[in-house]
Amino acid sequence: MTSFVEKKAASPSVVSPISEPLKARFQSQLIVAAEFAFAAYHRDLKRREPLPPSPQIQTLDWTSLSQNQPLFQGLVDCYRQGYGAAGEHEWGEGAYCSQSGWSHLVDLDRYHQLLSAGKPVCPHCQQGTLSPCYPPEHVKDKVKYCLNHGSRPTCVVKTDPSLPGRVVGFCWGSTCTRQQLTQRLGAVASESFANATSSNPDQLSSQLQSLSQSFPAFRRPTLYIDEILLLKSARSGPSAIMDLTKPVLQSGVDAGAQTAVFWTSPDSNIYPLTKLIGFTPFARIGQHDDHLVLMYHPNLPALSKFVSTITPKEMRQFLVKSSRRSHSLKKP
Ligand SMILES: [Zn+2]
Repeated sequence: MTSFVEKKAASPSVVSPISEPLKARFQSQLIVAAEFAFAAYHRDLKRREPLPPSPQIQTLDWTSLSQNQPLFQGLVDCYRQGYGAAGEHEWGEGAYCSQSGWSHLVDLDRYHQLLSAGKPVCPHCQQGTLSPCYPPEHVKDKVKYCLNHGSRPTCVVKTDPSLPGRVVGFCWGSTCTRQQLTQRLGAVASESFANATSSNPDQLSSQLQSLSQSFPAFRRPTLYIDEILLLKSARSGPSAIMDLTKPVLQSGVDAGAQTAVFWTSPDSNIYPLTKLIGFTPFARIGQHDDHLVLMYHPNLPALSKFVSTITPKEMRQFLVKSSRRSHSLKKP
């Protein structure tokens, strides 16, 4: 069941915590981000009731998802369409090398070229064979693993209003102890940047261990948001993303989490958006341009309240204001 966690090992120093000079800036950014994101709204929002969920949104746990096979299959298809070889070409994850794992990733266009030329051999090493990213069983194992670990694991899916069986977005996560958080981030690092030729899972594990030890906040349970995706066709502004996250954020609050963590690419649309609502990057995974960033939020209850009560119009106004504010903060 945990094959996706174990199938590839890690290369050395794949995890880089933010450096010491950055640490001070991180602390002040955190305070500023949390302060300006909520000061204006939190007082008013405290008195409000959550807005009703969109009819296209469904919140599930592992039991209800695994018993609804059409929806589970829809989720798998959506995952593969968003990220994998059935893809939207946004993330370019076409195939990976049998010898060097995902460190020899081949983008979707190149993979199709190699396939049509009858030569699905890794162009990086000319030795490994290529396997398409995210075969359905792999995605199913991944969802099963994530929804059976941590406290109150929660999966949210959004379906297409005109085609109810078609899943167009999802988000899942659970509340984790420090140990569980280390394992979950280890799975992401292994999957994304592992290189079987320089395998050292112990080193990766100790890097993540020391990273999580260096954050006192992780002594308490933390909501770990593992995956979030909205297909291009379903993107209708920040509120669509917020709809997906609301139940997951609330599950963290219900489980007693005070903070939240997720990972993303610095090229994603979500990265700047989440910075505007108080998330701050605290480490990176990977050594090259295609690295991932780990994001941290210091006040999950306030974030959850904010996201569940703010109207789409208010959200747009807030983001404009917040974006201006963050630009002016960068000036000397
Ligand atoms: Zn290769």
